[in-house]
Amino acid sequence: MNHFQYKGNELFAEDVALKDIAAQVGTPFYAYSHATLTRHFTAFDGAFADVPHTICYSVKANSTQSVLKTFINLGGGVDIVSGGELYRALKAGVDPGKVVYSGVGKKDDEIEYALTTGILMFNVESEQELTRISEIARRTGKKAGIAIRVNPDVDPGTHPYITTGLKNAKFGITIDRAMEEYTRAATLPGIDVVGIDMHIGSQLTKVNPFVDSIEKLKIMIARLRGQGIDLKYFDCGGGLGIQYNEEEPPVPADYGKEIVNATKDLGMHLVFEPGRNLVGNAGILVSKCLFTKARDDKNFIMIDAGMNDLARPALYDSFHGVQAVKKDQDGMIVADIVGPICESGDFLVKGREVPMFRQGDLVAFMSAGAYGFAMSSSYNSRPRVAEVMVKGDRFEVVRERETIEDLIKGEKMATFL
Ligand SMILES: *Cc1c(COP(=O)(O)O)cnc(C)c1O
Repeated sequence: MNHFQYKGNELFAEDVALKDIAAQVGTPFYAYSHATLTRHFTAFDGAFADVPHTICYSVKANSTQSVLKTFINLGGGVDIVSGGELYRALKAGVDPGKVVYSGVGKKDDEIEYALTTGILMFNVESEQELTRISEIARRTGKKAGIAIRVNPDVDPGTHPYITTGLKNAKFGITIDRAMEEYTRAATLPGIDVVGIDMHIGSQLTKVNPFVDSIEKLKIMIARLRGQGIDLKYFDCGGGLGIQYNEEEPPVPADYGKEIVNATKDLGMHLVFEPGRNLVGNAGILVSKCLFTKARDDKNFIMIDAGMNDLARPALYDSFHGVQAVKKDQDGMIVADIVGPICESGDFLVKGREVPMFRQGDLVAFMSAGAYGFAMSSSYNSRPRVAEVMVKGDRFEVVRERETIEDLIKGEKMATFL
């Protein structure tokens, strides 16, 4: 069930007309469908109903607290990559025992903060990090649960910028070094070896790379057992893709079947870190057409959202479906839809057939719930946009639009000026 549908000529989010949101909060804004977030979480969770598991939503995909709370209410934990994300998730009410902490560059204060709150485990990405966590745990009289993020050297077949599990990537510890590190970890005073972890990339549209990686890690798990190191958690990471355009990623149930099949003989507790899969198609960005201009061989539609609001097209040349919020355009036109930013990379659509938008028309960019607002910035001194959550026939602003005063918050004029 798609919760972003037309009723008559008007595009709705669930039972709320987007034009009504625009009238109240202005443009641009992100709108999230609570029913879609819920359905995605439930589908993912349900795919593993027969085995012990925890879904640790990857906060970086969309870190807005109301989104976090939606998943926490459904029993979800979180995957974090910074102290800031931990703070957000705790504020939203996450159970610290369902927090996993990934990332190649954890700082001392972040490690200490996570230890103090009692997270489930650190996904360790380097030898030095392991030593550091042990030292800090000892100093603070805590034990740190750890998993080693093993880099399995498997190609996920996705965009190079979101490929993370190949040998030359900065992520994880290579499979040939990981055995030694586990052996060392088992002797470190502040460390409790509890799991093994992988995350091979994002927007995967096939299950094989996941299964191939799991198979590689299973060999290691067996060897570790032989050494008396018995791991409880198998963190399979995130990365399951969604449909933006014509991709056909597996549905969570099919992904789940193959993962369960590959792991069931281990008897381990599975952990997942889905981000995009849960939020991507649950959010849209709504913007307004400011101007249009036509040249001999080119049409431009200038809108009030730019690459600072939705960076994915500029960053990965990625596709977002475009829909008219009110379907009354006179046909279609091949155009670039561009933002107000002074950069040529500032486009949301390049040379595609889109509705012939006119000044004042509202434009919806679909599948913008993941890595949308979360990657936004105030570049060009543009206040970050508002976020709205819709539930049935209600909607609420879950993040206020920034004001121009917010833009200079924290700035201090140098006294020597
Ligand atoms: C980004 C990230 C995820 C989430 O990836 P998705 O493709 O959004 O599911 C999960 N785990 C780690 C370690 C990540 O860095």
